[in-house]
Amino acid sequence: PGGVHRTDVCIIGAGPVGLFAIFECGMLKLDCHVVDALDMVGGQCTALYPEKPIYDIPGYPQVEAATLIDRLAEQAAPFKPNYHLGQQVTTLTPGQDGRWLVGTDKGTTIDCRAVLVAAGCGAFGPNKPPLDGLGEYEGKSVHYLVRRRQDFAGKRVVIAGGGDSAVDWAISLSEVAGRVMVVHRRAKFRAAPESAARLDQLAKDGVIDMVVPYQLAGLEGENGRLSGVKVATLEGEEKTLPADALLAFFGLAMDLGPIASWGLNVEHHHVAVNPATMATNVPGVYAIGDIATYPGKVKLILCGFAEAAMAVHAIHPLVHPGEALHFEYSTSRGVPGS
Ligand code: FAD
Repeated sequence: PGGVHRTDVCIIGAGPVGLFAIFECGMLKLDCHVVDALDMVGGQCTALYPEKPIYDIPGYPQVEAATLIDRLAEQAAPFKPNYHLGQQVTTLTPGQDGRWLVGTDKGTTIDCRAVLVAAGCGAFGPNKPPLDGLGEYEGKSVHYLVRRRQDFAGKRVVIAGGGDSAVDWAISLSEVAGRVMVVHRRAKFRAAPESAARLDQLAKDGVIDMVVPYQLAGLEGENGRLSGVKVATLEGEEKTLPADALLAFFGLAMDLGPIASWGLNVEHHHVAVNPATMATNVPGVYAIGDIATYPGKVKLILCGFAEAAMAVHAIHPLVHPGEALHFEYSTSRGVPGS
């Protein structure tokens, strides 16, 4: 993260629509940088329903959301996109000569001629427990997702939460971790019945410790290394669980957040655009996909793809003023990116 990057187009959001916009930019020989708050591409498809089949993508009678994202990333790859993942765009400020400066919370600046807001319902981020000193431990011994099971091998892991993620990871990590403790404020879990029953059984067998009804109350340790997690009942009765890692699964929050403060015409949490060009009320700033609204808008991935094509065609003359854009079909261009 960090640094100033000069490019033609900055795409905010690497959901399905942002990913397809990379391809469209590439086809019109526009350079682009892509920023997403999540540390993976795919937006809602990856974060919310990777294993669910989608039935309304033209040409795919059925495709798993994660597979669609893999294909979109593959289609964009020949154009060598520059991804800035795990960074939320917080500021949009005018640059020189009609350019824009897109700033992230990690200190990256993208200096671009046009901004393509493909931000879905806003930035995704994990809901975090309100614990003192949390920041010191994040990414070191407090995590909101599991990248590799092996990272927790032999460790004492506290898992907090009452949904599918908490239950599924408790079951899975119990095979590799030194100890798994599950903290939830209720005895009942909102998880698939089969998984909840499995968790129950593992608890009965003494493989997993159920710490219910308790809530997280504090962290103990130093220099980002956890030694214990403090938990408390609603009555305030406290105890400390010796632990090397805390996994908090309290769901993802979506936050239009900073986008609402950029002077864009926001209607009911969506950005109003001209449906002919996807242009917003702010010159040089375009919006596509779920975040964009206009009369007759249908919130489907396939509509977002078309909006990406229209927006990028509208952006072309900003980057190459006076240069005629000879419309070509992808088939007449040979291998994309070559
Ligand atoms: P998103 O997928 O929402 O991606 C936006 C990205 O922008 C996110 O990754 C977010 O982190 C990022 N972002 C936002 N703000 C910022 C910021 N300030 N800085 C950095 N990054 C930011 N659609 C269909 O067409 N067919 C289906 O069958 C279907 N099934 C669905 C099932 C479920 C359970 C759900 C929840 C949705 C379904 N949808 C379906 C809807 C579909 O997922 C959305 O229409 C689609 O994801 C929109 O894509 P997008 O790229 O516009 O936005």
